[in-house]
Amino acid sequence: MTVSGLPPYDDTNIFARILRGEIPARRVYEDEWALAFHDIAPQAPIHVLVIPKGTYCSFADFSASASEAEITGFIRAVGKVARDLGLEQPGYRLLANMGNDGGQEVPHLHVHLFGGRSLGRMIPAG
Ligand code: 5GP
Repeated sequence: MTVSGLPPYDDTNIFARILRGEIPARRVYEDEWALAFHDIAPQAPIHVLVIPKGTYCSFADFSASASEAEITGFIRAVGKVARDLGLEQPGYRLLANMGNDGGQEVPHLHVHLFGGRSLGRMIPAG
């Protein structure tokens, strides 16, 4: 499940370990395709990470290699988590970092879901 030129999936990464239940996380949702849990260092009143259950390093290989069912299941899970957290009416922000310039630290695809306050401009200075 890798894209040419990108490193292979590392199944010791922290989110793989959370998926396997080896380390704890404050889980908010789980289904066949996705797991959602609170970020350990929240940057908004609500900061949840949604990850696919498949072994995808980033949006790059997920978008290129995941099955239709995995993609549909994951996207629907992201929407459901936001809805279940009551964020649709006030609104929310989704963010997926990829690679070095994207600032990705954990090499398992994750979508950040931010909410609970007005979030300002898309990309803060700095
Ligand atoms: P990235 O920079 O890769 O897009 O984001 C990684 C996120 O994972 C960061 O927001 C960081 O706070 C979060 N994070 C890192 N380690 C852990 C952990 O062990 N548990 C949880 N819940 N979040 C983590």
